[in-house]
Amino acid sequence: MISPCQSFAAEKLTDEQIHTKRMELFQKSEAMTQIPWYYLAAIDQYERSLRFARKDREKPSSFISIYMEPEKWVGPLNPHSEDDNPETIALFNGIGRDGDHDGKASLKSDEDKLAALTDFILRYGIDHDNFKLALWDYYKRDKTVSIIMGNAKIYKQYGTIHLNQKAFPLPLRFNYSYRNTWGDARGWGGRRIHEGTDLFADYGVPVRATSYGIIEMKGWNRYGGWRIGIRDINNTYHYFAHLSGFAKDLHVGQVVEPGMVVGGVGSSGYGPPGTSGKFPPHLHYGMYKDNGLTEWSFDPYPHLRMWERQDRIKSRKH
Ligand SMILES: [Zn+2]
Repeated sequence: MISPCQSFAAEKLTDEQIHTKRMELFQKSEAMTQIPWYYLAAIDQYERSLRFARKDREKPSSFISIYMEPEKWVGPLNPHSEDDNPETIALFNGIGRDGDHDGKASLKSDEDKLAALTDFILRYGIDHDNFKLALWDYYKRDKTVSIIMGNAKIYKQYGTIHLNQKAFPLPLRFNYSYRNTWGDARGWGGRRIHEGTDLFADYGVPVRATSYGIIEMKGWNRYGGWRIGIRDINNTYHYFAHLSGFAKDLHVGQVVEPGMVVGGVGSSGYGPPGTSGKFPPHLHYGMYKDNGLTEWSFDPYPHLRMWERQDRIKSRKH
């Protein structure tokens, strides 16, 4: 499918073309530094998610979305706040680098930003543990480190960054119904408002991952029952609750893909582990956005409608 994504200046590129260009930049960096491309891609993708989730960041305007504070770029004591001279930047201990060899270290250059990032990583080392340490020193947040390591695992496994595909959580051939109940007062206790969409279906109807992602949480919760949490490649957290059970061999840290069965529709919850049947069987589906500082829920309903539509189109083609 060809859809215009972010339109960079006058260029109208498809998602696939953008991904190809981006991948070329990562692979060029890998060739020069030996830092695996998927580590660079994982950071860049995390940074892109922040640009969409935060008002204090500009929306992506080039292939690489890594954000670097101008003060860190030029060096904290550098009197020239927009310095792009690699020599004075080095003198003031700035992280800015000239990666595209045009004589300038510019925050507007994708290659310069990647060079600054790879130089930072190389101070630690490029094996798994040292890379994690570099991430921790850079972000000082455990959750961010684990999100980026998750991205890296997904990219490494599939060998591509072109992972936009989505799926509706229930196979369309089963009977189900759902409507927009975002923000309704809760029927079944718990939180003050309903943070999600309830999809009603029979016991055992397969529940599927909706995106490429990592299983971040799995187990019992008093209100959610048997529930699972998957963080996708765009740093959105998908929450599936009241399951009848889980698919076999599913574990935290596992990579999933759209359409992969993770459990079954059930009515578990509202009591000690194993409690079931206190309400009609349904899948509670929630979506949460992380912005690097905090996480909040948003309405999954429009997304569910879109994925359902896309799955319907796909099934007609077969
Ligand atoms: Zn619900």
